[in-house]
Formats: sequence, C-alpha cells, structure tokens
Amino acid sequence: MNPAARPLTPVGVFGGTFNPVHYGHLRSALELVEHLDLDHLRLMPCATPPHRQAPMCSAEDRAAMVELAVAGEPHLRCDRRELEREGVSYTIDSLLDLRAELDQRHSLTMVMGSDAVHKINSWHRWDELLDVAHIVVLARPGWQFPTEGEVADWLAQHRADASDVLHRDTCGSVLVQELRPLDISSTEVRELLANGRSPRYLLPECVLDYIQERQLYL
Ligand code: ATP
Repeated sequence: MNPAARPLTPVGVFGGTFNPVHYGHLRSALELVEHLDLDHLRLMPCATPPHRQAPMCSAEDRAAMVELAVAGEPHLRCDRRELEREGVSYTIDSLLDLRAELDQRHSLTMVMGSDAVHKINSWHRWDELLDVAHIVVLARPGWQFPTEGEVADWLAQHRADASDVLHRDTCGSVLVQELRPLDISSTEVRELLANGRSPRYLLPECVLDYIQERQLYL
C-alpha cells in the first residue's frame, strides 16, 4: 500500500529479446503508456535469456536497435541493465534493481505477453515478482488465461480489473490489457532477411538501416 496515500507515478518495464525490435513491440509500448497512464515504459533487452537459446545477434546490437527505435519518443526508453550484468538475465533481479532506483512515489509494472503467463511458474523466484512489481499481461486475440493449476490460482488471487491500482499500490496486482493486434514477429523479420526479402514497414527505417549496415540476420 502507498503509505502517503498520494497517487503514485507508474513506471513500466517491457522485457524481451528484441531480435530485432519491430512495430508490434513499439506500437504496444506506446498504447500501454497511454492506456495505463505510465510516466514512461522501459524496453529492456535481455542479454542471456533463461528460457531460450542465446540470439544470434549480440545484446549490444539488439539494444542499439531499441535505442534507435525509441529515440525522440519521450515516453519510451531503452533500459540496458541486463547487458551490464554478468550471467543469466533473471527478471526478478532486474525488477529488484530497478525498484531500488525508483523512489517511493513510483509504482513499478512489468509487461509480459499472454503466451508467457502460462509458464510464469517456471521463472526464477516467480512467487516474488508481485512483491516487487505489478504485472500487465498483453492480451492477444484468441488468448485464454489458464483455468486450473498453480498459475490459475495465482491469477485468481492477484487479478485486478482497473489500472488505478498502478496509481495506488507500488506492486502486487495482475492486469490484463487488450491492445491493437499487429501480426509482426521478430522471427518473421529475421526470416525475410535471411531469404533476401524485405521487412520494410514492419520495423522502423532506422532499425532496418542498422541491420543492413552491419549485415545482420543474413
Ligand atoms: P521472436 O519472434 O524472436 O520470438 P517476438 O517478436 O515475439 O520474437 P520478443 O522480443 O520475444 O519478440 O518479445 C518481447 C515481448 O513483446 C513479449 O512479451 C512478446 O509477447 C511481445 N510481443 C512480440 N511481438 C508482439 C506484437 N506483434 N504485438 C504485441 N506484443 C508483442
């Protein structure tokens, strides 16, 4: 609970491999800022993901592309903390680190895809995530919450319906946010490039220029 009972300023963090960042990520990020009234949202590239193979593009390049993509948009930032830490990038460590940087006037909200929520109980120290942040699940068309098991119980216990909790409590709730669906994935962008086809208009021009200058994903 917010002891001073003054409205909190919500800060969001959106983790991913961003390999590369595309308009699906960016449009979702901006809509989240507006729907949830976030002060800003940090796109946080993962250096060494715990749940998938290390991406073929370096963390440095992926972060550089995120930085180019958000330049000039005051509500979006690139957060490089996972690049600066050794070892596997556990979300709980990043959240604790970020929480320590924010003062008590801020609440912290982590964004995750609806696909990931089904497996959240496999995350490192998953039962501590809500002690540090709220979680916003991005609802994609046709998605469903788990209806039974550990994750279903956890959702039933923590689910909130209105985003005003982000202004009231520093952490502890799960929200679901529906956004404009944009059927774009980094996998598709990489495949187009590897097959000599153009991913133009699926991602910012400055990101495509970066990819082409460095001959990434060929
Ligand atoms: P890949 O195709 O390599 O698996 P991706 O396009 O799904 O990548 P990630 O970097 O893995 O991108 O995703 C980071 C976050 O962005 C995840 O929470 C994911 O659910 C979300 N996300 C990915 N694509 C979209 C999209 N088109 N619209 C909304 N959210 C997206």
